Amino acid sequence: MKWPESWRSGWPPKRRAKCCSRPADRGRYSTDASIYQVMRSACSSRAARKMRASRWTSAATFKVPVVPRGGGTSQCGQTVGAGLVIDFSKHVRNVLDVDAEARTATVEPGIVLDHLNAQLKKHKLWYPVDVSTAAQATLGGMAGNNSCGSRSIAYGNMVHNVLGAQAWTADGALHEFGRFDQATGAARALGERVRDLALALKPEIEARWPKVLRPRRRLQPGRLPQPERAPYTADGSVNLAHLLVGSEGTLALTRSLKLQLSRLPRHKVLGVVNFPTFYKAMDSAQHIVKLGADGTLTAVELVDRTMIELSLQNPAFAPTVRSALIGHPTLCCWWNSRAKTRPPAAQAEGAGAADGRPGPARTRWC
Ligand SMILES: Cc1cc2nc3c(=O)[nH]c(=O)nc-3n(C[C@H](O)[C@H](O)[C@H](O)COP(=O)(O)OP(=O)(O)OC[C@H]3O[C@@H](n4cnc5c(N)ncnc54)[C@H](O)[C@@H]3O)c2cc1C
Repeated sequence: MKWPESWRSGWPPKRRAKCCSRPADRGRYSTDASIYQVMRSACSSRAARKMRASRWTSAATFKVPVVPRGGGTSQCGQTVGAGLVIDFSKHVRNVLDVDAEARTATVEPGIVLDHLNAQLKKHKLWYPVDVSTAAQATLGGMAGNNSCGSRSIAYGNMVHNVLGAQAWTADGALHEFGRFDQATGAARALGERVRDLALALKPEIEARWPKVLRPRRRLQPGRLPQPERAPYTADGSVNLAHLLVGSEGTLALTRSLKLQLSRLPRHKVLGVVNFPTFYKAMDSAQHIVKLGADGTLTAVELVDRTMIELSLQNPAFAPTVRSALIGHPTLCCWWNSRAKTRPPAAQAEGAGAADGRPGPARTRWC
């Protein structure tokens, strides 16, 4: 693919030379973890470093389409598209601030989740949106996708754990996105515009927007005036950063994120129930999740026979998986709790599963 004509005239030659425009570089960035592939016009991790210093000349000035990128683990082609790919994961990945008392952290978007949590451990804190790709996924990408971890039933997903964001809009302006009632300037004007849109379109949104538990967090104007079923903030306040969460890099480029952290659980319990059939496992899930009505249940996962067999072939997983199996189950259901105190061993070992319905259970302390 040739550089578009507008780029030739608009993009300064020096900066163009710093972008990777060789076919091999563009090819490396042409896909993510999805089945989609679109050859890039150019890609750059240096541009992200320059942006960090706030020396970003807007995409609009150069008439360049921009595709921000973190770890590139998206499964639906979110990071795929022709244009200049800006890779934040290489140079823009610092923890800027941690307030252990308030349990908040401000981070650059390219930091990988596992790296952030490793740095938070000394404070006995963690960021609890634990995507399976924690070793590769960046906080910027997680915010872009409104990612959701296996413990979201207890901790929520990204939109529930982002308190603010600094981000550039396409005109190159840097904005502070935070609480709407404290917003000023252009950020406030943006919020008011979305609120007005939401109010004007309210009947359409109510009639047509699917009422699912976890809608994709693209720009949903209905959100501003009306909190959804799972409110994004504990006090019901409206936060403009939440407009960006789930916008897949289409509304603004994130420069930094302010995150709500959680305390590392003091005790953890892992329960494993063995099921003879898929139907029985699915039927029991409704009872298992009720075990955590007090907020102690953090995750429920289903592991089918194929996964069991594959894990048994992996020397790293095999001993753990073997210790959880009773006989030859078709499926295992794992549930994970954070307990306030450590119950007596007798209570933990061989505990019955939810509602007494599923097969034999094993509960262990981690
Ligand atoms: C095996 C596997 C397991 C997975 N498990 C989970 C899971 O458990 N839960 C889950 O939710 N997802 C899961 N995913 C999907 C994916 O890993 C997550 O969505 C992850 O959070 C994406 O992070 P990333 O850094 O790779 O983002 P990317 O894929 O690089 O980007 C994601 C989006 O964010 C945008 N973006 C990136 N950086 C910025 C920035 N600085 N400013 C603005 N926008 C930006 C991108 O343009 C893109 O639209 C899984 C994927 C795979 C392949």
